[in-house]
Amino acid sequence: MSSPQNYGVWKPIAENIEFNALESNSNAVMAVADTVRTTLGPKGLDKLLIDQAMNRHVSNDGVTILLSLRAIHPVARMIVEIAERQEQKVGDGTTTAVILAAEMIKEGKRLIRELAVHPTKVVEGIESGVKYSCDLLKKSAKKISLDDAELDQIVKTSLSSKLDGNVLHKIVVSALRTAGKDAIYGDTYDFDKSIKVIRRTDMDDKIVNGVILERRRLDPELPMQVNNAKILILKLDLKPVKESWIKDNNKYQDILKMENDRLVKSKRIVDAILETGANTLFIASPEVDQVIEDLFVSKGIFAVHISTEEIEYLSRYTGAKPVRNLDDLKNKDILGTSEKIYEDEDIGIVYLEKGLGKKIITILISGSTKEISLERWRSTIDGINAAEAALNYGIVAGGGAAELHIIEKIKQLKLKGLEQVGLEVVTSALESIMRQILTNAGFNGLEKVMTAKASPDGYGVDIDSGDIVDMVAKGVLDPVLVKTMALQASGEMAKSVLRIDKNLAADDLNPQAVADSRR
Ligand code: ADP
Ligand code: MG
Repeated sequence: MSSPQNYGVWKPIAENIEFNALESNSNAVMAVADTVRTTLGPKGLDKLLIDQAMNRHVSNDGVTILLSLRAIHPVARMIVEIAERQEQKVGDGTTTAVILAAEMIKEGKRLIRELAVHPTKVVEGIESGVKYSCDLLKKSAKKISLDDAELDQIVKTSLSSKLDGNVLHKIVVSALRTAGKDAIYGDTYDFDKSIKVIRRTDMDDKIVNGVILERRRLDPELPMQVNNAKILILKLDLKPVKESWIKDNNKYQDILKMENDRLVKSKRIVDAILETGANTLFIASPEVDQVIEDLFVSKGIFAVHISTEEIEYLSRYTGAKPVRNLDDLKNKDILGTSEKIYEDEDIGIVYLEKGLGKKIITILISGSTKEISLERWRSTIDGINAAEAALNYGIVAGGGAAELHIIEKIKQLKLKGLEQVGLEVVTSALESIMRQILTNAGFNGLEKVMTAKASPDGYGVDIDSGDIVDMVAKGVLDPVLVKTMALQASGEMAKSVLRIDKNLAADDLNPQAVADSRR
């Protein structure tokens, strides 16, 4: 087996062909999965990541740990990809996805090696098993709404293994409820649009009903606060004459003419801006001519630079329509409003409160060091994602109970011949989640899972006492989407790994060129 220290670095045997690919690929996958296995669940342990410059970072987050592994076997890299995909699609359940994939590959390999089942049969069994599991889980899911106590429990469960989970839990739930129905786009919740999470090391955790820009105003002489802000979002070029033209031109008359031109043009732009009635400017143009800036100062207008990404949500929050050229300034309804805008000079943050448009909530996440605020920030986002998935798709019993109790039903699925054996790959994966959570909590995972299996639907093991309890009544709940996505992603990976019979060291890997040459 590859040593866990090198995470399965690939050393092809026999010059360029690795005949025992299944063995080597599966070992590499196990080695990588083992690095995150022990973080699963509320009693999961953390990992200390140390980079080449000896920087330290403590993490409990599957993706973070996997992405920071250096040398890695190409097949094991797929594990990292599943975790990333899970993170992108649901934003939680990354460790779950990795453990499922590792278990499927381990069990699949056993069937192929020990029972001589053909890989295609195993693959077909996985396909049917995953599909049926997802259907069963979706069918058993319960819909919830924003005011239900289950929402608190979902967030709590998701943050239970995280640093400061119980502090962050309260912040997340409060932000979710404040955002409320304004976070519904179409017919689904999209909290990405209505809750921004910012991390800082210089202030306490805080929820702001409004927008925060981590910026200072354009010039320290500009006013620090505006009440009843009339806002313009400017995408137009605020540098009418480029300095380089002036430098390149050495004729005094030309320079004079250009300087004059610059003053006239700048004044025209500022006049057009002021005519709209705006008293606050969000400037997306990277450069602002000094002449224009000086005019803003003399008119006492509030102005701050913003990035292209900030345009979209500032526009949504204030109702301002971005202006691209001077003509746009004549359009109606381009101004947005916000009751109060002010800068906290000490920390360089601009606050916007009570915008005209959609509600936006900003969560400020603190930390005594950059690493701690980063980890707490990630957890906060995990909690929000879990809540979003729960509201949009429903919830199931957590602690691996939902997965455990569909096993018997899956076994009843009668597939022809050896494909039935392939189903075992999926059922052992379904069992592995509870087993790992309990092993991590110091129990004999296997033994506890056996007892839990005989209990009614939704029952699992209390992580503290080891007793069999109703997980739903206990409030240990997971979004069903986290489970179905993790099952699908891990199933896909297991299928491709189990199908490989040889690893070849290829010269120049370019599948596109090969495909093109066949046209
Ligand atoms: P992931 O990266 O997969 O989200 P986590 O470390 O967040 O990994 O663990 C999630 C798992 O922990 C879920 O299956 C969840 O149901 C389980 N879990 C959370 N709290 C409890 C609890 N109190 N008892 C048992 N299981 C729990
Ligand atoms: Mg989680």
